[in-house]
Amino acid sequence: MNANRILVVEDEPSVGEVVSLYLTRAGYDVVTVNDGRVAIEMLEKETPQLIVLDLMLPHVDGREILSRVRQRSHVPVIILTALREESDRIAGLEMGADDYITKPFSPQELVSRVKAVLRRGGTNVAAEEDPMQTLKFQDLQINPGIRLVVVNQKEIDLTAKEFNLLLLLVRNPKKVFSRSLLLEQVWGLSDYIDPGTVTVHMRRLREKIEQDPSHPRYIQTVWGVGYRFEP
Ligand code: CA
Repeated sequence: MNANRILVVEDEPSVGEVVSLYLTRAGYDVVTVNDGRVAIEMLEKETPQLIVLDLMLPHVDGREILSRVRQRSHVPVIILTALREESDRIAGLEMGADDYITKPFSPQELVSRVKAVLRRGGTNVAAEEDPMQTLKFQDLQINPGIRLVVVNQKEIDLTAKEFNLLLLLVRNPKKVFSRSLLLEQVWGLSDYIDPGTVTVHMRRLREKIEQDPSHPRYIQTVWGVGYRFEP
């Protein structure tokens, strides 16, 4: 498999065809497989640029594929599945998926998620920069690979959402994120969630990582717009 390829693992032919069609039109080189065992065999030989992974598959399911992939690679993975429960979504992200799309979905949305994931840390985007290496900012350290956050040499407990929020901001320093963009990137678009949720999570995150949460050093509010990370 060519390193610029996207591997789509999907057993539903109509879904596989649509995903392949849209990604090909967007300029990607796409290979679709419909069986978990075939996907594993393929991934043992070569690593694609990104994997779009269905969870319910014949022979070997998507979770098993993801855990095998993560044992030896940081290749971006977008989970594509009919499971829409929040707990499944969190489990997917905790297992190391980069994004999560629930069916039914819009193919254009999938294409934009693929672009976004590749932009914010696809392994082939910056080969010399390991996306799993520890990120250091004064008294704050983040290790994305083991989801460890250290503030002032103390390990901090973050929920999955808090961690994902922090990582998104940190990987895009100084970029201003609106609440709706954060909702889209961290919570996903498929369910309506009150934008106030972002405010609540942001407050908790600041309480955990900032020396003085009312005068945050790292996560700054851009009034009327959203938030940005100041490295
Ligand atoms: Ca399936």
